[in-house]
Amino acid sequence: MMKRRPLVVANWKMNKLPSESSAYIKHIEKELIRYPDVISVLAGQDVLLPAMLKAAKETSVAIGAENMYWQEKGAFTGETSPAALEDLGVTYVIIGHSERRNYFRETNEMVNLKAIAAIAHRLIPIIAIDEPIVQGDDNDRSHWVVNQVIESLEGISAQQAQHVILAYEPTAAIGSGQPITPELAEFSLRRIRLTLADMYDWPTANAIRIMYGGSVKPNNALELMRQPDIDGVLVGDAALNPDTFLELCRLA
Ligand code: PEP
Repeated sequence: MMKRRPLVVANWKMNKLPSESSAYIKHIEKELIRYPDVISVLAGQDVLLPAMLKAAKETSVAIGAENMYWQEKGAFTGETSPAALEDLGVTYVIIGHSERRNYFRETNEMVNLKAIAAIAHRLIPIIAIDEPIVQGDDNDRSHWVVNQVIESLEGISAQQAQHVILAYEPTAAIGSGQPITPELAEFSLRRIRLTLADMYDWPTANAIRIMYGGSVKPNNALELMRQPDIDGVLVGDAALNPDTFLELCRLA
């Protein structure tokens, strides 16, 4: 089976200023060289991206956006186009984060349109798959997760899907300090990989990287990343601190 390179992705959300982003990158760039096998990504608000890209030039840190619109261009005041992110030199884009689904009413259909637009612009989509707190019994929750995977990837070929990253983030674990157990996380990620194998085939399912997100910290990251289907972690709060981000890269 092909080896999947581990990933550590920081989601800064709406927490940092442009002037803080370069200092963060300067702080981590040297030590990151010690972990060449790990893909490290920092995702920030759009207004931070130029400063982040400038600081990350000639480092091994990749830069991601936290969202984008799916239209190429036009009268969509306030939105960011995939073409603009590509032109800027951004590599990754988080799509369908649970906060976007809950506060900004993003649906699976919108997530799918964004994923297709990202791929068309050579951006790597990190598609977040959430699992709401109140959503019936285990079977309902499982159906909810599987359905998001299927609907988010609709129309995306097996070849394109190999470059997509999925991030499973149970809502109750996001920002709560309460991650789910590594066993439960592995159970959900396995279910997602089985869904991918059903949709595509096993070589494709085995090539797609799937991350876990939700209250990841250095004291729980190792056990999570030891699980066979967990290829990396998407980290909010803990990754606001550059030393903690480095520690997570070391553990990965
Ligand atoms: C996130 O929002 O993607 C996330 C995982 O946040 P936290 O690590 O703070 O739970």
